[in-house]
Amino acid sequence: MKLYELTIKEAHELLKRKEISSQELTRAVLERIHAVDDKVKAYITVADERAMEDARIADKAISEGNISRLTGIPLAIKDLMTTEGLRTTCASKILENFVPPYNATVIGKLKKEHAVIAGKTNMDEFAMGSSTENSGIQITHNPWDLSRIPGGSSGGSAAAVAADMCIASLGSDTGGSIRQPAAHCGIVGLKPTYGRVSRFGLVAYASSLDQIGPMTKDVTDCAMLMNAVAGYDPKDSTSVPKEVPDYTACLKHEGLKGMTIGIPKEYSTAGLDADVSAAVKNAVRKIESLGAECIEISLPHTEYVVAAYYVIAPCEASSNLARYDGVKYGFRDKEKGDLMQMYRSTRSKGFGAEVKRRIIIGTYCLSAGYYDAYYGKASQVRTLIMEDFKNAFEHCDAIASPVTPAPAFRIGENTDDPLTMYLSDIFTLSANMAGIPGISVPCGFSGDGLPIGLQIMGKHFNEEILLTVAYNFEQETDFHKRKPML
Ligand code: GLN
Repeated sequence: MKLYELTIKEAHELLKRKEISSQELTRAVLERIHAVDDKVKAYITVADERAMEDARIADKAISEGNISRLTGIPLAIKDLMTTEGLRTTCASKILENFVPPYNATVIGKLKKEHAVIAGKTNMDEFAMGSSTENSGIQITHNPWDLSRIPGGSSGGSAAAVAADMCIASLGSDTGGSIRQPAAHCGIVGLKPTYGRVSRFGLVAYASSLDQIGPMTKDVTDCAMLMNAVAGYDPKDSTSVPKEVPDYTACLKHEGLKGMTIGIPKEYSTAGLDADVSAAVKNAVRKIESLGAECIEISLPHTEYVVAAYYVIAPCEASSNLARYDGVKYGFRDKEKGDLMQMYRSTRSKGFGAEVKRRIIIGTYCLSAGYYDAYYGKASQVRTLIMEDFKNAFEHCDAIASPVTPAPAFRIGENTDDPLTMYLSDIFTLSANMAGIPGISVPCGFSGDGLPIGLQIMGKHFNEEILLTVAYNFEQETDFHKRKPML
């Protein structure tokens, strides 16, 4: 086995036994990036020198007997978490040369464990999108089929894991951006409960929905990375002071007896791709064979979720993105003119089309006279969606569903049709609207050999049930072991 193919757990064992060094491992990962990323374009910045320096520090810590679960492990970070001294672009021209003076809390946590940061990954600009085609820097290709999208917005982080260009990565999820690219790239992705992981240093898209989470080669790594990043942070007022369990304690292959899994009847929509439908049905059967009882449940407000999300998220985005005015950060257009002209031309040239579309929609929906009709109404719908889940969880412990209506589409296929693109988020948006956790695990392949994901959602702060179901399912299947040919 090649070093870059290792999981966190495998690499950790080898590092602990001193059979490999972090420098060897990191070099292998960097070489892999330089060998295949020309084709995939997962990274915006590869931090070669810094990564080797991180690895030297990790090796020194290990030689002093100081090793924890992520020590010496090369990770990739979605390029919207601030990294001190390392460019953080959000895949936007407006931040193309922005070098943050501080680390996001999650990055600080990784540093404390002497993890290695291999680089920063591509994404839809400011995390707005479902395909990574909205990046202002480059388009990422799906390692399973280079003519297709890797999903988004954390497409670079997903592709980097799938193509073994890092051992694991971090993404962020506002409406599916961890789970959806994880499904399209055949890896594991977890969106934690809102408030579980600090958002300090995560560049804000829609603050009431954003959450950072792990993207990994298997469920074990997902639990290990969760242990590292979860926890209260006084610097994030929405972070919850709740004890962090040891997520690896869920990794027991003991079956799912006594558990009830809900299958939402509203999710078997007519638009569901036949391969996705079949793979998810097989997965549900497998879960049943593991001892769980699967019952039909109802999430009656599902049909309104896309409309409500695509009001709430742009509203929050229009407010959050007001800070990019050419004065405080990043790009400033030097065209002659007064202050207003400078704002106008900086934002016109700095933002891409999708970001502008969202700012305009959000500003409109929040303006006097329209607030009640749009933002106010969408917030009420959001409450109904939360209640749907509350009612459903009275009958079941977790909910199983598809992650996406179809496998990865071709690059360019939906770019002129934002509405179709938005509709493809139907199965992932609700978890963000309700603040509950959701995981995507590989559950099959389409006829074209494209990965398909199974989503498990649970109650607030019940990531353990997701990991338990996902782990037991993974132990019985080998979808996560397949690798794309590159
Ligand atoms: N596709 C959704 C959007 O464009 C979700 C993105 C995300 O989760 N960051 O808003």
